[in-house]
Amino acid sequence: TDTLHIVGGGMAGSEAAWQAARLGIPVVLHEMRPKVETFAHRTGHLGEMVCSNSFRSDDDEQNAVGLLHWEMRAADGLIMTTADAHRLPAGGALAVDRDPFAESVTARLTALDNVSVSHEEITELPDQGQWIIATGPLTSAALGQAIAAETGTDALAFFDAIAPIVYADSIDMSKAWMQSRYDKGETEAERTAYLNCPMDRDTYEAFIDALLAADKTEFHEGEATSGPKPTPYFDGCLPIEVMAERGRETLRHGPMKPVGLTNPHQPDVKAHAIVQLRRDNKLGTLFNIVGFQTKMKYGAQTEVFRMIPGLENANFARLGGIHRNTFLNSPTLLDNQMRLRSRPNIRFAGQVTGVEGYVESAAMGLLAGRMAAAELRGDSIAPPPPTTASGALITHITGGAEAKTFQPMNVNFGLFPPVEGLRGGRRGRKDRYKAYTDRAKTDWQGWLSALAVPA
Ligand code: FAD
Repeated sequence: TDTLHIVGGGMAGSEAAWQAARLGIPVVLHEMRPKVETFAHRTGHLGEMVCSNSFRSDDDEQNAVGLLHWEMRAADGLIMTTADAHRLPAGGALAVDRDPFAESVTARLTALDNVSVSHEEITELPDQGQWIIATGPLTSAALGQAIAAETGTDALAFFDAIAPIVYADSIDMSKAWMQSRYDKGETEAERTAYLNCPMDRDTYEAFIDALLAADKTEFHEGEATSGPKPTPYFDGCLPIEVMAERGRETLRHGPMKPVGLTNPHQPDVKAHAIVQLRRDNKLGTLFNIVGFQTKMKYGAQTEVFRMIPGLENANFARLGGIHRNTFLNSPTLLDNQMRLRSRPNIRFAGQVTGVEGYVESAAMGLLAGRMAAAELRGDSIAPPPPTTASGALITHITGGAEAKTFQPMNVNFGLFPPVEGLRGGRRGRKDRYKAYTDRAKTDWQGWLSALAVPA
């Protein structure tokens, strides 16, 4: 049949349904709420915001999330145009009145003749028909198990344990240096995969004190116990502050061990501890701090991590966290059309593909909806170019990210191919970001025109 089935009516599923339906495709949206609940949702509405009521920055010239807003508006996106209609004053951020927003998302979708909503939990991966699975970070346990059976349990996570990610150009290379432990690695790419930041004894002791004293977040009620894997801490994914609580030397024998590395800035001084950062994308613009998953509050994280020599002026592409979050190892499992390689009749979209946040999830829904619609019409469309915010995200999750260390990602300019010939560093930032967003807008319009909405 030519019907598109979408599982999950959250940010991604609602947007995917809207896009496909507006392109003339009949859509059935399968949403388990309100019959089956999650620990975070409160209503049976489509497009419910589970926590904050903000879609973050609306600045489409200087901010990558704001650019994603712009791209979705240009595609007549349901989530953005409905957000605009329910906007609350919030400075440069796009905040909305959450209940009227979700009611309106529901009403606009169900008003379309070719959309129907079926309130049921889907528990298996369907063999036939065109499907998009957009069941989000709180994918029901039964479906999570069915996905794990298909992908292998290593390729599906039920929690994220996110180490903070730093922009490479904000690391002070007069203190840090590039080297892999014991100089392991055959290729240039392997040898340039790690950056190291040395600590002397006093800095280490002060760092441990700061970790122990920092403000931490708690798990939400129900978060640690729902889902197929009930324990939040697993397989060496302890938060660093919990490791520090187990003993002041634990980190020095764990992720901060000072062995197999020589500091070229001070070859005669033996470091007391060394923080390692690992390249996080093929472009080499982002580095994650190895083993530094954490439940510290965001403000505390920037303060504590900037104590690390070399990271005094670090800018963070994302901060660390540990949450209940079902997500695929998309770089190995999905093709560039977001189809499951092993079952190409199934696409994934939203947070379950390893993006993070309402806006990013809706954007991946938008792409999946349009790609599925094109396929059902007998066409196909290429993914948007990586110079656009949507394209940068899909390129990252389906290929640009390192599969071994894949963790959910927010949109950020570190994912974009650099614009050549512009001043680097802090001073050139404003011009650089403007150049990124100008280039993105032109390229996005080009991509959109490849798939016209029927009159
Ligand atoms: P969702 O919006 O969660 O939608 C998935 C839908 O699928 C749900 O409606 C669910 O009921 C349904 N579903 C699940 N399993 C099945 C099934 N088997 N059959 C049928 N339906 C099913 N992001 C932010 O940007 N800001 C925040 O403040 C924020 N806070 C968060 C707080 C919590 C506790 C969590 C868990 C996440 C938070 N996020 C936040 C991330 C946020 O969930 C995502 O950004 C966004 O909602 C994901 O969109 P989605 O469409 O992928 O998933």
